[in-house]
Amino acid sequence: METLAHWINGTAVTEDDGARTADIVNPATGVVSGRVPLADAERTQQAIAAASDAFPAWRDTSLSKRTAVLFAFRELLNARKEELAEIITAEQGKVLADALGEISRGQEVVEFACGMPHLLKGGHTENASAAVDVHSVRQPVGVSAIVSPFNFPAMVPMWFFPVAIAAGNTVVLKPSEKDPSAANWMAELWKEAGLPDGVFNVVHGGKESVDTLLSDERVASVSFVGSTPIAKYVYETATSHGKRVQALGGAKNHMLVLPDADLDITADAAVNAGYGAAGERCMAISVVVAVEDIADELVSKIAERTRSLKVGDGTRGTDMGPLVTVEHRNKVAGYIDAGVEAGATLVVDGREGDFDADSADAFLNPTLFDNVSPDMSIYQDEIFGPVLSVVRVKSYDEGLALINENKYGNGTAIFTNNGGAARRFENEVQVGMVGVNVPIPVPMAYYSFGGWKSSLFGDTHAHGAEGVHFFTRGKVITKRWQDPSQLGINLGFPTNG
Ligand code: NAD
Repeated sequence: METLAHWINGTAVTEDDGARTADIVNPATGVVSGRVPLADAERTQQAIAAASDAFPAWRDTSLSKRTAVLFAFRELLNARKEELAEIITAEQGKVLADALGEISRGQEVVEFACGMPHLLKGGHTENASAAVDVHSVRQPVGVSAIVSPFNFPAMVPMWFFPVAIAAGNTVVLKPSEKDPSAANWMAELWKEAGLPDGVFNVVHGGKESVDTLLSDERVASVSFVGSTPIAKYVYETATSHGKRVQALGGAKNHMLVLPDADLDITADAAVNAGYGAAGERCMAISVVVAVEDIADELVSKIAERTRSLKVGDGTRGTDMGPLVTVEHRNKVAGYIDAGVEAGATLVVDGREGDFDADSADAFLNPTLFDNVSPDMSIYQDEIFGPVLSVVRVKSYDEGLALINENKYGNGTAIFTNNGGAARRFENEVQVGMVGVNVPIPVPMAYYSFGGWKSSLFGDTHAHGAEGVHFFTRGKVITKRWQDPSQLGINLGFPTNG
């Protein structure tokens, strides 16, 4: 049984026997494929030191050389993405096509970061005062820590590191311990692309490693994605150590369906967005808010589609894979029990049925609840599994109020053919990413990804202009080239003119 290595200063670094590890398990088979080391503070500091030492030279590497490495990384990633998809499916469980999808969304950010020379251009003002010119630059912040969740082991790190690296920073990535191998694969790809040693490091671990990243004074910024309680903790801890932090948290995404929506299109969208990746997406739709008398028809169309999904090992051409672990599967099944107990109508019971897999332990079939009310735990909590709830409301206003009162504000969508209603929704909804007849409105790489309320701590979203801003600091230079005509003493306060 192999123990995965950390990746520090361009080299695989293995732990000695007896170091703390956790199992890496294929959730579709139940087979333990390896072990992941859980770094202590010292090992994490070694990765930080490598990133810190590599920073001065990388910061001063020309933009054309830096972006040449980004272009090379993009080409390698595109050519070999099937390898990475297989790693993701073997550890996270999502079906291969979905793993390829997450890689292509990550690749978009690499492509965006290839344009860094344009993105870093500052402003210039000539003659701001007599013979005085002013210009602004944006400079890299230094060592950037990235702490990522299990559900997108390639895409979420790629929301950050292409932008950080292209802007001249060096990186320590702490991936999820549940599916850690994608990070090592990407580290080796960087090396092949020509990235200097120490610019991209991977340290595997849990709380001890993360806490070291949050407090070490050599770390300048922290980009975190994960559950809301940890996001809040990361934000509070790292900011108290003077770091800039973007900490993206959990979600409960609603799809508001107005009576004029096309119900077949809407039912397809609800099923795709509710059960894709077994509901383990931060932009998954988990609540369908059905207005007025379309609810019966909509629920029956969603139920029919839900029952037709093939669930099993993601390498076997199925629609939906397992949950990430048996423990998580059992937690999600517990929510189904709780929904029944609370009086919701269980339309499709995912605790029943078969799976096309060697081990059924981490699997659930898609589950549909109707007549869910906001006080139930299946509505209140982020379940992060294939459980879709339908809440019935009387009007657009009641649906909007429900969404705005929810503590999360990551994504939402409205389904309607009424442009005026959609426009009102865009304007009034208190959520960071909004779809109009688009159920999973993940912004393109050149816009920024991020939610509101308990879905994001800090004020900076990922990638796009906000990502560039996060990974750089502004500097304004005011200058005057001495000229013999300016000789003479003058103690007055400098004024314009
Ligand atoms: P998680 O919060 O359990 O773990 C995320 C990261 O934090 C991991 O690297 C983990 O090792 C680390 N961690 C866990 N406990 C810690 C602790 N006590 N102290 C310090 N670090 C700790 O999240 P997860 O289960 O891996 O991922 C699922 C969650 O991520 C869901 O809530 C989902 O909504 C959220 N998510 C959000 C977004 C978004 O964009 N808002 C995107 C993807 C996932």
